[in-house]
Amino acid sequence: MHVFREPIVTILARQQYEGAAHIRWQSDSEVAGEALAEFAGRVCYLSFGQDAGFEGGHKLIAGRTSNREYLANILKVRHGSVLEHAVWTLLFEGVSRALTHELIRHRHFSYSQLSQRYVDESEVAFVLPPEIRRDSPAFDVWKQSCQRSLNDYRTLLAQIEEQVQDEPSKTLRRKRARQTARSVLPNAAETKIVVTGNCRAFRHFIELRGSPSADTEIRNLALEVLRLLKDEAPNLFGDYRIATAPNGEPYAETDYQSV
Ligand SMILES: Cc1cc2nc3c(=O)[nH]c(=O)nc-3n(C[C@H](O)[C@H](O)[C@H](O)COP(=O)(O)OP(=O)(O)OC[C@H]3O[C@@H](n4cnc5c(N)ncnc54)[C@H](O)[C@@H]3O)c2cc1C
Repeated sequence: MHVFREPIVTILARQQYEGAAHIRWQSDSEVAGEALAEFAGRVCYLSFGQDAGFEGGHKLIAGRTSNREYLANILKVRHGSVLEHAVWTLLFEGVSRALTHELIRHRHFSYSQLSQRYVDESEVAFVLPPEIRRDSPAFDVWKQSCQRSLNDYRTLLAQIEEQVQDEPSKTLRRKRARQTARSVLPNAAETKIVVTGNCRAFRHFIELRGSPSADTEIRNLALEVLRLLKDEAPNLFGDYRIATAPNGEPYAETDYQSV
């Protein structure tokens, strides 16, 4: 039985920023999401500087000079819609069905998740809740419970496949057996999910799920997402700090909450 202890987060896709050839303005950030959010914000006030070459006779202003300064102000004044232009796609693996049930409550993300109706889960892995230590009696209870569920899943799968053998479609036969047998798999069953979201949605997720009151598994995931996105786009996520709660556990905090 394979056991996952930590979530695995991979950046699958990030944006490309092309700029506008007819506008004489360049961001000093090479991160597409950062440059794009800055451009979008500057359009609101035409703060590209007087020589930018926009058509239309508007008066152009200079505004703040660096991308870092510009986005820091966006975060400070909570001009959150500007952050929606910066988008990433992440792959989460080694996460439990309990975690994804909480994750998908975040309505501004797009999701594609492993289907337990299409995929045979006879060899499914399980995600160990962070509170259970491997050397504790709780680990034996947890492991035995997962193993029992897996055995029951396999038994049910064979029984229902037998029961629906008159179903002419092989795919439907398998689906009917798997959708029935999966009902006995626990919340700890491992799953994989692709998540696409914008900076604003990721920031909201990090704030809610990186907080001390969040479930520990999803908090570990939120902190891993934060580490990756902070590295990816420091001007959009660099205000977050990973702090230590009184109980010694890490959590995310920022001065620019709820954009
Ligand atoms: C510690 C913790 C405990 C929780 N416990 C429970 C629980 O016991 N039971 C339970 O059911 N859920 C629980 N939740 C889930 C919680 O209620 C939210 O569903 C989840 O955190 C998603 O966040 P969100 O609602 O802010 O929405 P998101 O979908 O992330 O949306 C972000 C923001 O967009 C806006 N928004 C989105 N959709 C709408 C809309 N339809 N109308 C108006 N504004 C909208 C809101 O401002 C919202 O805050 C818990 C969450 C946390 C962090």
